[in-house]
Amino acid sequence: MKYSVTFPFCILLLFAFTLSVSANVSPYVTFSQEITGFDESGAQYPTVAINPASLEGMRTHTFALGQAQKLVIETNIHDAETRGLDKFAETVRRCYRFVEKESGRTLNENILLYIIEFPAVPEYYSFQMSFAENEADWGEVRLVLVQKNDPLHGPSAPETIHELLYDTLPHELGHDMLNSISNLQHDIDSKPSYHTRWFIEGVCELLAKKFSRFEIPALWENFLARRHINTVLDNPRIRDEIFQWAQENSNSPTLESDLYGAAMLVLVRWSRIIGITHILIKIQEQEEPLAGAELVTMMESSIGLSRDKILDQGHQLGLNLLPLAENRYPLMLGQY
Ligand SMILES: [Zn+2]
Repeated sequence: MKYSVTFPFCILLLFAFTLSVSANVSPYVTFSQEITGFDESGAQYPTVAINPASLEGMRTHTFALGQAQKLVIETNIHDAETRGLDKFAETVRRCYRFVEKESGRTLNENILLYIIEFPAVPEYYSFQMSFAENEADWGEVRLVLVQKNDPLHGPSAPETIHELLYDTLPHELGHDMLNSISNLQHDIDSKPSYHTRWFIEGVCELLAKKFSRFEIPALWENFLARRHINTVLDNPRIRDEIFQWAQENSNSPTLESDLYGAAMLVLVRWSRIIGITHILIKIQEQEEPLAGAELVTMMESSIGLSRDKILDQGHQLGLNLLPLAENRYPLMLGQY
């Protein structure tokens, strides 16, 4: 299969990053990643727990990233170089630079990626790594699974590689970049929501989709279609929900995915008036940290339209972008 991503009936991809402190134990940082699937009756498919530390034949490859940052790849693949590891690492570097350039901000993250090969890749899995806080200088820790002999780069690489390089990584580096903006309120588990999620996920989705458009337009089309960008902002439920969207919610996976698409369209609309770099500068210049409602007000005055009109125009952008993606026109700067 070439540059496409398929979906089972229902799939949940969860990334978590937690900092835990308990008595007599130094603080530690945990990264987890889980893919769970459900059949039509709602029953969960079996999940395989993956622990890279217990795998045989692991090797470490280190690459330079940014100014002083590094990309470390841990893998059980013995011939990774001949299967495209250098090109994989080069794409990670481009992604890193892209997020820095688009945001006008510097990332200070080291990235640790596990590329694990299996004779048969488990479809549903969980993965967790913990590091003592003083040892963990990782901004991102991710796992990607490949099948024996899969290439690690190019059109014949597996979907897992495409997802990681062209969607997950630019999205997650977007979060890392936004985390460094002290004037932006982020939801914290079990605390009241600031309702900034539409903005945060919107920026991350915009960065991710724009990167995929630069790199592989066929994937861009696929990613946009998955978010239903031609219909999401025509849906009254999503229009009601978008600016109230909280980290903790009981949304169905489909509604949650559509909200990502809706948030992206709102940010596309805003970024056509002032680029993301300037939106972020404006936020940083405020005297107090901003919650979601204040961001909505800032956007309304910046665009000169009410939120309803912005949603209407976001819907129109979704209608226009999808056929554009289907025709895969190359990106012209400033037109996203
Ligand atoms: Zn996100």
